[in-house]
Amino acid sequence: MLAVNSSAERRERLKLVYQEARGCTACPLHETRTQVVFGSGNADAQLMFVGEAPGANEDLQGLPFVGQAGKLLDKLLAEIGMDRAGVFIANTVKCRPPDNRNPHPHEIEACSHYLYSQLDLIQPTMVCTLGNFATKLLRGDPTGISVLHGRAEVVTIGPRAVRLYPLYHPAAALYAPSTLELLRADFRRIPAILALGPPAQPEREPPPSAPDDGEAQLGLF
Ligand code: URA
Repeated sequence: MLAVNSSAERRERLKLVYQEARGCTACPLHETRTQVVFGSGNADAQLMFVGEAPGANEDLQGLPFVGQAGKLLDKLLAEIGMDRAGVFIANTVKCRPPDNRNPHPHEIEACSHYLYSQLDLIQPTMVCTLGNFATKLLRGDPTGISVLHGRAEVVTIGPRAVRLYPLYHPAAALYAPSTLELLRADFRRIPAILALGPPAQPEREPPPSAPDDGEAQLGLF
């Protein structure tokens, strides 16, 4: 995708991607969904969260993280002085897997271009992956969250480098106090990582130079 720089234009393009996702039939999850859960929040956010997949509440409301895990996410954000209005929240897959099963690899693959478009258009400087699925997808590597949580790294996703910060999924912390404490401790480091600002960006390839048609020698104005 070509870089789009004005905030208004990026927002309009995001709406177009949303319209496309709403009609998506690329994988079998479309047959059982109530609604596509595209994502929500601030389209100019510096910080983006990427979860796993919508659950039953999200499927009904069309919004990410509105159930118990979402309430915990709100609480953890509040503890670091943030709220949903300042971030963007999306998922690895945009439709609910039946019975809340794990998304299948071909479903993640079929859906991933929506997430990459969101990242390209929102242009966050920092991306918190929540749990294994988002972490593995965006790192392109099978290393699990118990190893990676709380370790910020710069990764290049498409044309842009971001600070990727893997976290435990809030659902994993709901009934596991020790996981909650790890998640809370990792959350507390978010403001300091955000304050680092955007990471150095990969060099863009120069645009191809125009073929030499001899015009320069002709001295035309
Ligand atoms: N869990 C997720 O990963 N995403 C949601 O939107 C809700 C719960």
